[in-house]
Amino acid sequence: MKFKRRNFGSNQKVSLFTLGTMRAVESAEQMFMVLKEASLIGINHIETAPAYGPAEIFLGESIKKLDFKGIFSQDKWIITSKILPGQKFSEGKQQLKKILKDTCLPKIDNLAIHGLNTFNHLAWALEGEGVDLLRWAQEEEIVDQIGFSSHGSQGLIRESIDSNRFHFCSLHIHLLNQANLPLANLALKKGMGVLAISPADKGGHLHSPSKQLIEDCWPIHPLQLAYRFLLSEGISSLTLGAAKAKDFAIAKKLINSIDPLTKVEKACIKNLFNQSKLRLGKTFCGQCRECLPCPQNVPIPELLKLRNLYVGHGLNSFAKERYNLIGRAGHWWEEVNASSCNECGECLDRCPHNLNIPELLSETHLKLIDNSKRRLWG
Ligand code: SF4
Ligand code: SF4
Repeated sequence: MKFKRRNFGSNQKVSLFTLGTMRAVESAEQMFMVLKEASLIGINHIETAPAYGPAEIFLGESIKKLDFKGIFSQDKWIITSKILPGQKFSEGKQQLKKILKDTCLPKIDNLAIHGLNTFNHLAWALEGEGVDLLRWAQEEEIVDQIGFSSHGSQGLIRESIDSNRFHFCSLHIHLLNQANLPLANLALKKGMGVLAISPADKGGHLHSPSKQLIEDCWPIHPLQLAYRFLLSEGISSLTLGAAKAKDFAIAKKLINSIDPLTKVEKACIKNLFNQSKLRLGKTFCGQCRECLPCPQNVPIPELLKLRNLYVGHGLNSFAKERYNLIGRAGHWWEEVNASSCNECGECLDRCPHNLNIPELLSETHLKLIDNSKRRLWG
């Protein structure tokens, strides 16, 4: 069977799904099983990182084993690994050499800056010690393409894309959070590859959807609908962090699925958002950001986005997870939660939807605050 591939940067062609390795780190056997399954369903792109514990060591062993068994040849994989920004040239060199050693590969195809989340990170890559590191990696021919993953602001992502320094980017682009879609389109227009970060997990825990979400998307599974939406938008590849064979079930069905949305899919998406709007009524936050700045630095739109998700779509577990990571994930997420609102009222007149922002924030805090959970990468 011939599998569809999409252009990824200047000279690569990747499968519509990308295997993310962060969840297959319990043992080398688990990684081998996941990698084998990925190769059998037509995936040729793997995303990994030193930050994912033993993932790169297990990956290196598994790639060799699959090659040795004649299941999938080593040179058919496209490998993307990542390094954290801000490192000194010498540290970065050491880390890159370690990636090659751990994965047992002579080179990796793509190197992404892992979490280009601040303007300082971008300056590091464009003017600081990152310039030497990235240039060295390409001159030594141990890396073909340079890219970035970002959880940062839209202004930062736009500037990063416009720098023309990068061949690809990994972004949060989701059916239930489409704010970064114009940036993905900008990157695609420039010939960059675009990876959607974990639509199943970061897209709203769609691997275990709420009853409400299942009903709103019926007869299509919410994750399948989310995948189809992103693929129909032309996103190069969707990251899938598999831990077991059954995690590939929907991707297997959609591995060649590049067609525009069908009438039924469009109707399901329309119903999904109509139902959400009905539930939110006059409390829907339009994400216009007019309410900012808040003197207490409360990230009002981000917090009310979580409220939109749990009230509108029943994404309680996802909203709780995100809310309780606030202040615990450094530059990866927000620093201040809704409890910092002192009800000064400065934001009230700025909201074109006339939302009672302090009241909604207080409700959101009471609903979502919980014991903190361990953070997963990506
Ligand atoms: S009412 Fe709360 S959210 Fe609004 S500006 Fe004042 S502190 Fe910020
Ligand atoms: S101004 Fe109102 S609608 Fe716009 S992001 Fe702020 S709270 Fe939401």
